[in-house]
Amino acid sequence: PRRVVTGLQPTGALHVGNYFGALRRCVRLQDTGDDLMIFIADLHSLTTHQNPQALQENSMELAALLLASGVDPERSVVFVQSAVARHAELCWLLACLATQARLAHLPQYKEKAATLKEVPLGLLLYPVLQAADVLVYGATHVAVGGDQAQHLQVAAQLVRTFRHRYGCQPFPTPRALLPDDGSDRIRSLRDPSKKMSKSDPDGKSRILLSDPDDVIALKIRKAVTDFTPQVTYEPDTRPGVSNLVTLHCLAAGLTAEEAVEEAAALTTAQYKQVVARALVAELAPLRERAADLRRRPRLLRDVLRAGAARARRRADAVYERVAAAVGLAPHA
Ligand code: ATP
Ligand code: MG
Repeated sequence: PRRVVTGLQPTGALHVGNYFGALRRCVRLQDTGDDLMIFIADLHSLTTHQNPQALQENSMELAALLLASGVDPERSVVFVQSAVARHAELCWLLACLATQARLAHLPQYKEKAATLKEVPLGLLLYPVLQAADVLVYGATHVAVGGDQAQHLQVAAQLVRTFRHRYGCQPFPTPRALLPDDGSDRIRSLRDPSKKMSKSDPDGKSRILLSDPDDVIALKIRKAVTDFTPQVTYEPDTRPGVSNLVTLHCLAAGLTAEEAVEEAAALTTAQYKQVVARALVAELAPLRERAADLRRRPRLLRDVLRAGAARARRRADAVYERVAAAVGLAPHA
């Protein structure tokens, strides 16, 4: 089977984009029989300032949401990144093969760095740590959104550089696994030219997984569309309405054609009620399961502990080959 790795940052309240694009996608991958490793990327989140207590709480919250979404810790390996020291260890070895020029050239780095007076080195190293996250498990695939494709090229480049330098390749070249249902591109409800995002200052731009039913309905009702009353699916020319169609499809398990047909006799205003109902039907049970799990911190910790133990065994196997290839003295 494919070995798929995916990570989620514990940086605050999750929205429906994160749910369809990341959480539920994990469940789908798990159900297709992929060998799936899901980590809570607390080390990555430190590239921007995090309140220590909030970081810890967010990590546990993410664990609760993963399980509430249907991730099965027996089938998938669920763990916290920092619990497996090999991520950081391999990151160092790879950092010695990466070049500053190449990393500083990546668009995401340039965007973030431009907003900062002092740029932390961790921000530059971010794609190298991402490469380590994947290579340390010998993963064949990485479940990412389209915005991460370039970072995967960094991983591929590092595999090549490693092979040239050391004459061996202890890991496969990982490939991107992109979803084909639009689930990685949920748009802002206030400005459909942007993606829905945790860090958008406008809270009405996103539906949180913690939003009660009436708030979901309200945010959908206020969603920006256009002046055409018919419901059509034309992402390029009508991104607002099309985003509602996508949300409807993902929540109700429909294709875009089916959703549009269902909406044939409705105005966009009426259609918004349909979309809201579909979202509530999907999110209300999720909210309840998450609330149950939040009351069981011991269970969550046990799951993460067991996941980390499994992950460590896998990472050790790869790392030992890498360390030997590089010439680190054996210390076992
Ligand atoms: P931030 O604004 O802080 O970057 P974010 O909303 O983009 O927050 P991330 O933590 O960067 O969230 O991403 C978590 C996961 O959710 C990733 O797998 C990412 O691909 C996915 N994701 C993020 N935004 C969306 C979106 N609008 N639609 C679908 N998936 C998304
Ligand atoms: Mg993001």
